[in-house]
Amino acid sequence: MNLNFVAGKTFETIDPRTGETIARVSEGDKEDIDLAVGAARRAFDHGPWPRLPGAARAKIMHKFADLIDQHIEELATLDTLNAGKLFSWGKAVDIPSVANTLRYFAGAADKIHGQVLKMSRELHAYTLLEPIGVVGLIIPWNFPSTMFFVKVSPALAAGCTMVVKPAEQTPLSALFYAHLAKEAGIPDGVINVVSGYGPTAGAALTSHMNVDKVSFTGSTEVGRKVMQAAAASNLKTVSLELGGKSPLLIFDDADIDQAADLALLGVMHNKGEVCVAGSRVLVQEAIYDEFVKTLVEKAKEWVVGDPFHPNSRVGPQVDKKQYEKVMSYIEHGKREGATLLTGGKPAAKKGYYIEPTVFTDVTDDMMIVKDEIFGPVMVLMKFKTMEDGIRAANNTRYGLAAGIVTKSLDTANTVSRSIRAGVIWINCYFAFDNDCPFGGYKSSGFGRDEGMVGLQKYLQVKSVVTPLYNSPWQ
Ligand code: NAD
Repeated sequence: MNLNFVAGKTFETIDPRTGETIARVSEGDKEDIDLAVGAARRAFDHGPWPRLPGAARAKIMHKFADLIDQHIEELATLDTLNAGKLFSWGKAVDIPSVANTLRYFAGAADKIHGQVLKMSRELHAYTLLEPIGVVGLIIPWNFPSTMFFVKVSPALAAGCTMVVKPAEQTPLSALFYAHLAKEAGIPDGVINVVSGYGPTAGAALTSHMNVDKVSFTGSTEVGRKVMQAAAASNLKTVSLELGGKSPLLIFDDADIDQAADLALLGVMHNKGEVCVAGSRVLVQEAIYDEFVKTLVEKAKEWVVGDPFHPNSRVGPQVDKKQYEKVMSYIEHGKREGATLLTGGKPAAKKGYYIEPTVFTDVTDDMMIVKDEIFGPVMVLMKFKTMEDGIRAANNTRYGLAAGIVTKSLDTANTVSRSIRAGVIWINCYFAFDNDCPFGGYKSSGFGRDEGMVGLQKYLQVKSVVTPLYNSPWQ
């Protein structure tokens, strides 16, 4: 951890409940990234971490996870104060889950091995799986803790060293994690956290000649820049987890009550600041009218308020910029002629709160249908046949996730195979598990986080070949 950045600059971090500054954080720049990459390079080339037996790395990762468990309350508080996330959810789900992500990948650290290959009779060959090297991990603000560990945990298990660039909106928990990593016994230089802005610190990391891989989660627009920077520098490998505009298809055999609950959860959870938000809800025509009635009624249950309050279900958007972006999409939707069924207004005089909002009577060319809004805004559409539903679901440049609500196994199987998206949830939504790979099709990116495929991207494959008999050096 480096809290004394070179230029000595700082930036404000705010509490989205009020818009007030809660802390000033060191602003890392190109020179700081250079120092951090240098530390990670030395730790990779000469330090113990990549050379430790997997079981020894796992032991330290378990200690790290235990320390997180001992600080759940503080960590959940930081993400609520800094990102407006529900405190109750952070305490019960987000923070305990990140400790489990560390444990999941710790369990893999001593099972990383290559294969014996069958080559010609005279040659013996095998593969080694080696850590890929120094990795740059760039994370967004919507899940500051989850995103940190989805990347740091497999990189640690693989034996990589790393520079983490948290989002400028939410640096606080990442800095606490760096402190806990040291306490857990992770050697110096292995995890370097540099808080700072994307175009400066982030860009310096993606174009650095001594970084071997960048794992990026964020917007599609910035993902493009990350790839360009990698191509223009040392051709480092890149994985991109990007935006989405995911569909939830509700078929006419669905239980309307349960489907309406799921639809609201899909887009209002975490105030809609979720990459996989089911923001396009497609309902089959036979149940459409009844569904709309039920949905509008149930939207009232999504109480907007202080995320520390146990009754609140929707906290404030992360900052003024995000709040204004969501409100401008809502105004755009109204101007484009969509019908506002509920919500559409700021929900408080102070802070960045927005009412849960549902639009209907939309057309494919409307911005609220095409763009990722990243706020509590649902667009509701009607479809006739299964084929129509599939066509509408795929009518997007994104492909991150999709949901299907039906009692028919045939429908669920056909639709799940027809939608071009990385995760399909049948009769559920947001059903995440460390063992379940996660990532996008199309402009939602490539590469997968989580699961054993999420570990592979931090490893290199090396082939070793030797003569079996009559080696000239025998
Ligand atoms: P963003 O792209 O603006 O920023 C993401 C990160 O990239 C931040 O740390 C930022 O500082 C950094 N960054 C910005 N410009 C950069 C540059 N030129 N070079 C290098 N780094 C740069 O995204 P955001 O607004 O923080 O997050 C919201 C977006 O993230 C949404 O589009 C959302 O869908 C996406 N997201 C995707 C997933 C996923 O797993 N697919 C998960 C969460 C969020």
